[in-house]
Amino acid sequence: MTRNERAVDVLVVGAGPAGLGAGAELAASGAGRVEILERELDAGGVPRHCHHSGFGGRLRGGDTGPDYARQCVRAAVRAGAVLRTGVTVTGWVNATTAGSAADGPADAPSPAGAHVLDVTGPAGLERITARAVVLATGARERPRSARLIPGGRPSGVYTTGELQQAVHLYGQPVGSRAVVIGNEPVGHAAADTLRTAGVEVVAMVTDQPPSPVAALLRLQGRCPLLTRATVIGLSGRARLTGVTLRHEDGRTLTVPCDTVVLTGDFVPDHELARRGGLTLDPGTRGPAYDPEYRTSRPGVFAVGNLLHGVERAGVASSEGRAAAAPVLRHLAGTVPPARRPVPLAVDAPLLWIAPNRTGPAGARPLRGRFVLRTARRLDHPVLVVTQDGRELDRQRLLLPAVPGRPFHLGAGWLERADPHGGTVRITAV
Ligand SMILES: Cc1cc2nc3c(=O)[nH]c(=O)nc-3n(C[C@H](O)[C@H](O)[C@H](O)COP(=O)(O)OP(=O)(O)OC[C@H]3O[C@@H](n4cnc5c(N)ncnc54)[C@H](O)[C@@H]3O)c2cc1C
Repeated sequence: MTRNERAVDVLVVGAGPAGLGAGAELAASGAGRVEILERELDAGGVPRHCHHSGFGGRLRGGDTGPDYARQCVRAAVRAGAVLRTGVTVTGWVNATTAGSAADGPADAPSPAGAHVLDVTGPAGLERITARAVVLATGARERPRSARLIPGGRPSGVYTTGELQQAVHLYGQPVGSRAVVIGNEPVGHAAADTLRTAGVEVVAMVTDQPPSPVAALLRLQGRCPLLTRATVIGLSGRARLTGVTLRHEDGRTLTVPCDTVVLTGDFVPDHELARRGGLTLDPGTRGPAYDPEYRTSRPGVFAVGNLLHGVERAGVASSEGRAAAAPVLRHLAGTVPPARRPVPLAVDAPLLWIAPNRTGPAGARPLRGRFVLRTARRLDHPVLVVTQDGRELDRQRLLLPAVPGRPFHLGAGWLERADPHGGTVRITAV
């Protein structure tokens, strides 16, 4: 099959806030030809279908998602990045095997160290050689099948992303009585979208114990919140008729409804990273990476929610911009002397830490701190950092650590970690 072959300096995969931030900064900094590829017909990523405000780095107010998405797109294009939509990156051709007989007619060998990716778009198949690749493919909520929820396969079952696309992008009707599974910010965004579409939210459900915030929401009467409960079944044949829940004390309850939204439980969209042979972090399930956004494959960088489930859009955009400097150093061949990356790992109930590798001497994560998540609420925990039994640091959190929300660990201890030592462990006590 004929493939159009081209070369670029930097190929950015994904045009959400992270990829557009990286593309804007790289193009403005003279990285050469910077091309951003987006599989959707419109660029902007998740914010395109989040019609609420709260984007642009501000916790309250701020821009709506679509406004923010447009600003990110404009910034990248104005800086000189080439943005192509409706174009999906489907895989990698190992630089050393590019042009092998199995891949079709003899291709010119790729320049040493370059990466070759296969791409499908309106113009047909392409093979793009890039001196550096920035993966910015985002994260997605786990669908019903991956959550192992028993029952039939009725319509009316959504993730937040599917709901928002149905309502805001396609104007489809979604039902009249809904249950939202999850009580994190994304669950509330789903509830708002349902109300905008004229759907009554009859309950929100969480497996977590009651919290002061939950009590406040009940007082405000926005909707009943069922705590310490999990979904054990969906009923209905053609259309959903109810959701069966089990409380942790064993009681069960079926809530009649025609719509259920499964929120949170994000997984990095790591398929392309996996196909590229990148080492994945067992905690985040995104590519393992260091404070310079370097993955296990030289010249391949990763940014945004691909690295750590869902952070705010402003964080994803800042990560994209921050990755530009190390990418430029890679292009210029001025990468700092190699230092063995030491893995970082957490102990339960902590779920993950990001970045999850140490980097070159002096490299610090964004804003000088690591981001972490926990599986259960911890009241003002002390985070203890150890390596080979040696304590490197301990930091008390001023606020509780709560599931589904980020909390942070300062990076001041990094220089005390032994680059020849074992895994650095973070424990909450
Ligand atoms: C329901 C919801 C509400 C939110 N509300 C807020 C809020 O109020 N404020 C806030 O700051 N943040 C909010 N966020 C978070 C914010 O949307 C994300 O932090 C941000 O979108 C992450 O940017 P990203 O670029 O990493 O990923 P994404 O926005 O997911 O972009 C990734 C892009 O990569 C593309 N892609 C993936 N694979 C390929 C491929 N192989 N080839 C080509 N393209 C590919 C995808 O199509 C996508 O467009 C919300 C998120 C959700 C889900």
